[in-house]
Amino acid sequence: MGHSMPLLHSISEVRAAIRQARLAGRTVGLVPTMGALHEGHLSLLAAARERGDFLVVSIFVNPTQFSPREDFTTYPRTLEADVEACRAAGGDLVFAPSVEEMYPAGFCTTVRVQGLTEGLCGRFRPGHFDGVTTVVCKLLDIVQPDRAYFGLKDYQQFVVLRRMVLDLDLPVEMVPCPTVREADGLAMSSRNRHLTPEQRRVAPRLHQALQAGSEVLRQGGTGEQAIAAVQEFLSKEPEFRVQYIEAVNPETLEPRLQTGRPVVLAVAAYLGETRLIDNLRVD
Ligand code: AMP
Repeated sequence: MGHSMPLLHSISEVRAAIRQARLAGRTVGLVPTMGALHEGHLSLLAAARERGDFLVVSIFVNPTQFSPREDFTTYPRTLEADVEACRAAGGDLVFAPSVEEMYPAGFCTTVRVQGLTEGLCGRFRPGHFDGVTTVVCKLLDIVQPDRAYFGLKDYQQFVVLRRMVLDLDLPVEMVPCPTVREADGLAMSSRNRHLTPEQRRVAPRLHQALQAGSEVLRQGGTGEQAIAAVQEFLSKEPEFRVQYIEAVNPETLEPRLQTGRPVVLAVAAYLGETRLIDNLRVD
């Protein structure tokens, strides 16, 4: 059956393996993840396979992007199943470093993108995007891929990372990939497995609320009116604790309230202890 696929833990081993792939004439693709892989992640692997890249999947639950009150310790860790999923999806190498490998004693550098990180999730997760940009910058430097693949489910993350790559002249093509959803519309997420059956039942309402908002925009409504429609839809489901509902310019992430399209409608809400995000672009 399938090929064997190395699971590597050290930066030097990864660099050596990639050097070999380069010598064999391969282009290199990187899919950075925090593991607990699902169909959303696998769609990124498929996009890389399509382009024929030597496919590196990193699996690293990055502590620096979690605040002390967040779910770093309870974040799902399923390395064995993840490695098998990567192998089955045609991955060529899994890089699963330890925290010490990525942040050895004395580590004190941060990569920060300003402005784009201030709104949306950034407002409620101070320091989160500094953690994301720093770790992705390191991964891009370790792997030096031709292309890196990211999901638009984390829309702000993609815009922030694309900006970092531009500003630092990193020689990588950033490939955005559409959000993969469950049949009922719920955006796939590693955190969905924390939902109780009852929470799982109402969770697709998040996507339905965004659809209600996008309908308002399609009818010529403003961002403000779309937000109100999302709000009203979600208020019917008392289990949701809404953190934000925003309508933003897809490029600058600045609020787009008085005008219509193009716009990204983005929402973050808690169901119990589980924080869910979703977004919809309306052109
Ligand atoms: P994570 O493991 O949550 O850090 O996500 C790793 C990558 O997978 C990121 O680029 C995410 O945007 C992407 N991703 C997560 N969920 C989905 C999804 N439902 N559809 C598409 N991409 C996703």
